[in-house]
Amino acid sequence: RSKQRGNNVVSIFTKTMLNQTHDILKFENSFRTALQEDQFKLVFQPQFRIQNGIELSGFEALVRWHHPDRGMVSPAEFIPLAEETGLIVELDRLVMRKACSMWSDCLKVSGACENLHISINLSAKHITESSMMRYIEETIDKYNIPLQSLYLELTESAFVNDPELAAARLKTLNKLGVHCAIDDFGTGYSSLAYLNNFPARSVKIDRSFIMGIKPGNDCAKLLESIIKLAHGLNMEAVAEGVETEQQLEILRELNCDTVQGFYLGRPMPKEEAQKLISDYKKINGPEE
Ligand code: C2E
Ligand code: MG
Ligand code: MG
Ligand code: MG
Repeated sequence: RSKQRGNNVVSIFTKTMLNQTHDILKFENSFRTALQEDQFKLVFQPQFRIQNGIELSGFEALVRWHHPDRGMVSPAEFIPLAEETGLIVELDRLVMRKACSMWSDCLKVSGACENLHISINLSAKHITESSMMRYIEETIDKYNIPLQSLYLELTESAFVNDPELAAARLKTLNKLGVHCAIDDFGTGYSSLAYLNNFPARSVKIDRSFIMGIKPGNDCAKLLESIIKLAHGLNMEAVAEGVETEQQLEILRELNCDTVQGFYLGRPMPKEEAQKLISDYKKINGPEE
């Protein structure tokens, strides 16, 4: 009897594995189709400097999958699978091209763009890959993107596997003039020592640290320390996921440089982003 049970366990196990393999193949197929049929679109979420009134500073490009049957699929759902299957390389290159093409259009339409940036997320896998570095250079060249207006967002996990190589790559990007930001700071494997070894220009503090802030509470104190730490290392502090006016006010009090979140702007399509840039120019531009 016990042998029989054992067999059942084996067959159930194998069946699950088969299902998983099947699911992964299915995912790979629909992902490749999506690449071919241009189902990936970008939206752009504005970022604002907050210490001198509220100034638009740039946009983060975020990918969306418009799946013919499933509708809008969130990147939180498919990025991990794309990383697992290696398809992330194709996706990040596509996002890089689309974001640079969008930004080059913006630059043509509005001179106001010269002081703004476009921020792109790069999967942790890429930082140590030399072909990706080359691809970045080629793409910004092709679309004529000023180096200082390109920001790359990397999560802390990018530094875990080969910290020395990752640090060297960051230095190369810095030398090129590309601005690197550490994304989702505080959620990863980060030891504080990392911050010292990675010459990033800004630290994006994860949304989970912003969610609970109230004037003077522990969360606000923790945030204050992170911001001071960033400034102490000559890095800019960026807060993500700012949803309320109160959070914004606290962040201003704590000397946070830049914020991003639903309160000031949701991720939006290209046309809306361009409208925001030109309206912004009207508000802040020289009087006629
Ligand atoms: P992330 O880089 O930390 O991007 C910020 C995420 O927070 C975005 O989710 C954005 O829509 C969301 N968000 C912004 N403001 C608020 C807010 O006030 N409240 C709340 N609740 N959420 C807010 P999204 O677009 O679903 O992206 C999730 C993650 O997927 C990103 O996190 C990033 O790690 C990854 N991702 C997105 N696009 C790309 C891409 O093109 N390439 C790569 N490699 N990863 C990407
Ligand atoms: Mg990001
Ligand atoms: Mg983030
Ligand atoms: Mg995040």
